[in-house]
Amino acid sequence: MALEMDSKTGRLNGLGRILALVRPYRGRFVAACVCLLAASGIGLVYPQAVRIAVDEGVTSGSLDALDRIGLALVGLFVVQAIFTWWRHYLMSWLGERAVADVRRRLIERLVRLPPGWFHERHTGELVGRLAGDVTILEGAVGTELSMAMRNAIQLIGGVVLLFVVDVQLTLIMLCVVPPMTISLMVFGRRIRAMSKAVQDAIADTNARVQEVFGAIDTVQVFGQEQRESERYGAGVERAFERAIGLARWRATFMATASLTGFLAIGAIVWLGGRRVATGEMSPGSLTAFLLYTTVVAVALASLTSLWAALMRAAGATERLFAIIETEPAIQSPAEPKPLPAGAQPLRFEGVFFHYPTRPDVPVLRGIDLTIAPGQTVALVGPSGAGKSTLTALLPRFYDPDEGRVCFGGIDLRELDLDELRARIAIVPQDPVLFSGTVAENIAYGCPEAAPEAIEAAARMAHADDFVRSFPQGYDTLCGERGVQLSGGQRQRIALARALLRDPEVLILDEATSSLDAESEALIQQALTEATQARTTVVIAHRLSTVRDADRIIVFQEGRVVQSGDHTTLMRQGGLYRKLVERQLGANERQATSSGDA
Ligand code: ATP
Repeated sequence: MALEMDSKTGRLNGLGRILALVRPYRGRFVAACVCLLAASGIGLVYPQAVRIAVDEGVTSGSLDALDRIGLALVGLFVVQAIFTWWRHYLMSWLGERAVADVRRRLIERLVRLPPGWFHERHTGELVGRLAGDVTILEGAVGTELSMAMRNAIQLIGGVVLLFVVDVQLTLIMLCVVPPMTISLMVFGRRIRAMSKAVQDAIADTNARVQEVFGAIDTVQVFGQEQRESERYGAGVERAFERAIGLARWRATFMATASLTGFLAIGAIVWLGGRRVATGEMSPGSLTAFLLYTTVVAVALASLTSLWAALMRAAGATERLFAIIETEPAIQSPAEPKPLPAGAQPLRFEGVFFHYPTRPDVPVLRGIDLTIAPGQTVALVGPSGAGKSTLTALLPRFYDPDEGRVCFGGIDLRELDLDELRARIAIVPQDPVLFSGTVAENIAYGCPEAAPEAIEAAARMAHADDFVRSFPQGYDTLCGERGVQLSGGQRQRIALARALLRDPEVLILDEATSSLDAESEALIQQALTEATQARTTVVIAHRLSTVRDADRIIVFQEGRVVQSGDHTTLMRQGGLYRKLVERQLGANERQATSSGDA
């Protein structure tokens, strides 16, 4: 997947991007850095104070000097606490702000990506990954970045001060550092790879769970609860195994780091103690040296794990930005041509198309078709012939591979996308209602619509009666947390939603498939009224519903095989007549069998 980017340059880009995220708030960032410098600086000063306390107070027995130094230390630590508070607060603010910005930019981009982009990806997995990546980023900006800076300051400052205290001892100590750093880096790399494997395993299992929850009734009716639990269980165990493997490495890493650190301290006590004994070093300096060594060791150990965390965050940021910077494959041209006002013809010219996910299956194979303005055209044909796909090209959910689709004589690719879509409405096969009231759902495409207009659209779609039968009428909540509407009711709400837009082109994809005969008759009547003044493309399996269409276009395997009105096509014979006769036969059989019963 294009979202994966693990190369070194990718990670460095990611780090750059993390810094770029705080650029708009550079004032706060600088303030946070100042607090960080001050607090870390104080952290580096106190071993010197301890040196003075030991040399001038403890060894010479001066209680006065000890009082002064003790007081000064208290003052220093209070100041340090204030700076630490501000550093934490400012950095967390920056982290939260950066993440809020990224979330908004992500959604702004994602909702503009064409449906095909989502079909190419596992949506559940994508959502899980995005949430995970955003959390990682939040940690990086809010905590890890500032901790890494603090530790870097303490590392560099600590080493400098070690030299100031005792050059010889420092040089000896520094011989230990390079091999230690290299081994920690090797560990770090291994741990990074393993934690990615753990994340992948979790993402895989979560994606499946989302699917299962979305289709819980299917799972239960087919009695697959146990198998799904087991499948999830197996995924969880896989993630557990990997996590334990990771824990083993982490534990080894921590143990090695702490062992090296304490060995170094032991060495200093031994070597430094000898130098104090021979008078080459003061006891205070040895104490300060030990404290600085601790500071440097802690900083170094933290930096290696923080570096790993920052790299992980850099990878996450790169993946997030890969989405934010995805140019939608379908968008308005830089200089769109104006769409002429008034009713316009639709035209398909030599259109070939296959779905990006299935390049080997041609879905549309040379469609030439003109739909005059105001005409009602019915697309019929066997399932999978490409009828829905043809209509999906009209709002440019996809662009044809070859040929072009024109509206008002202009290639759709030369039109402004919003302007084009404002003139088209679709009632899909299986309409979705959002959480909200019925009125909000009808007004989805026209949020400003007046209640009267909403009700008028509902009446036209024959939805008004059943909506009013709910105790709360148009204020009834529907969608996931509200009432569950039947398929036919949802279709009528979707039809009202489409009609409220007063579109010039109305696409009805099996829009009456879930209705009983009576509602269908009512809707047919409504549709006849609604479709009079506009171009309408109807996809229908029940051929009885499209008899009156101005033109019926018969599809087979991605090609138009017949076209004409019902009477002409029946006279012609061929696929259409065969389909009609087959349906009539089926209906008669059904009528006879229900009569017998
Ligand atoms: P039906 O009457 O059953 O709705 P249809 O004539 O509308 O069928 P389409 O939905 O256009 O047919 O599908 C045409 C072909 O394209 C089918 O083979 C289908 O499997 C395939 N197809 C549809 N949608 C996608 C998609 N998003 N990705 C890949 N292939 C698809």
